[in-house]
Amino acid sequence: MKNIAILGSTGSIGTQTLEIVQANPDLKVVALAAGSSVDLMEKQIREFQPQLVAMWTKEAAKELRGRVADLNVKVVAGMEGLLEIAVLPGAEVLVTAIVGMIGIRPTIAAIEAGKDIALANKETLVTAGHIIMPLAKKCGVSILPVDSEHSAIFQSLNGEPKRRLSKILLTASGGPFRGKSRADLEKVRVEDALRHPNWAMGRKITIDSSTLVNKGLEVMEAKWLFDVELDQIQVVVHPQSIIHSMVEYVDGAIIAQLGVPDMKLPIQYALFYPDRRPMEGKRVDFFELGGITFEKPDTDTFQGLALAYRAAREGGSMPTVYNAANEKAVGLFLERKITYLQITELIEESMVQHTRIDNPTVEEILRTEQEVYEYIAGKVKL
Ligand code: NDP
Repeated sequence: MKNIAILGSTGSIGTQTLEIVQANPDLKVVALAAGSSVDLMEKQIREFQPQLVAMWTKEAAKELRGRVADLNVKVVAGMEGLLEIAVLPGAEVLVTAIVGMIGIRPTIAAIEAGKDIALANKETLVTAGHIIMPLAKKCGVSILPVDSEHSAIFQSLNGEPKRRLSKILLTASGGPFRGKSRADLEKVRVEDALRHPNWAMGRKITIDSSTLVNKGLEVMEAKWLFDVELDQIQVVVHPQSIIHSMVEYVDGAIIAQLGVPDMKLPIQYALFYPDRRPMEGKRVDFFELGGITFEKPDTDTFQGLALAYRAAREGGSMPTVYNAANEKAVGLFLERKITYLQITELIEESMVQHTRIDNPTVEEILRTEQEVYEYIAGKVKL
């Protein structure tokens, strides 16, 4: 039996993780956390019977406590609640499937408590990779990638000598606006940006995929996870999303992981690594597929990717600025308070006005996040 805790159990990755638990009786859920989705959390508690549950708001926790009073479950709230789940004795793996930098402190606490991390929450590594990766090494815990591209790289590196790796080829679908010009993007509405061609995901990451900011975050995530230089990571647009990423070795051999676009595979791989469990579902049919294609990313139109390389190169607190500005700007776009192109404009302006901090502590990272939020609020005159 493997005991797992899930932060963000009511979201896209969280619910798919629970589907894997349903299909594998040797997985047991011991703790769950969500923001404010009380109805779904109540259902999940009744089905999976965790001993500990956290809701972000006190009101949601109070409401949930009343609803599950007939069960033997403790309901906690806020950051303290997330931290209590992170260090829960008995949990072996923490699935970090919440959105945003809120995941930093629970991830660090879980590593210090010796838990392996199945990491979906890429914002954590982007902003605090310099703290998290050495800490994981020191504590002897594994950071197992859930992101499909990073899982593909991880699978392609399996059993190969890491020192013989030449480069990572990070694939990107190109999103719903591939082939468009900047002028075409001026009129993009929320509904258009939420329509991803290949993947069904949460709202924030779907917008990030359309701007290629998601790919930028993934470049930074890959740099930390696989300990490579930025110049060793090349983004390749591959619209069919069948190759989930590749690695090239020093002899020119390229190893890739392919499959239909389904997040359950990388989630399951992370939960059972190094085992590979059977999984129901569609398979790649090469005859039906016919062909696969590749393109260079258009970084003039999708400036989010170029800005990510810039932030990663500058390092220090700059990736935090990039990420925080994007989180705030995407939220404003989803609330229809700014235009689509303003998302990357605000990221760039936030980066320009920021004075970079070298090797930021967690407190400095979180302070930088707040400062960026305030800067953008002032700019957009909320
Ligand atoms: P969703 O928006 O679908 O889900 C987010 C989850 O986090 C929900 O359970 C939400 O709860 C919970 N949550 C939000 N805020 C808080 C908070 N303050 N405290 C506790 N829980 C909170 O996101 P996704 O599942 O799409 O993405 C999760 C992470 O995984 C992101 O970092 C994303 O980049 C990454 N990822 C996602 C992929 C995907 O296919 N979806 C692919 C690869 C990576 P509530 O329902 O109550 O709001």
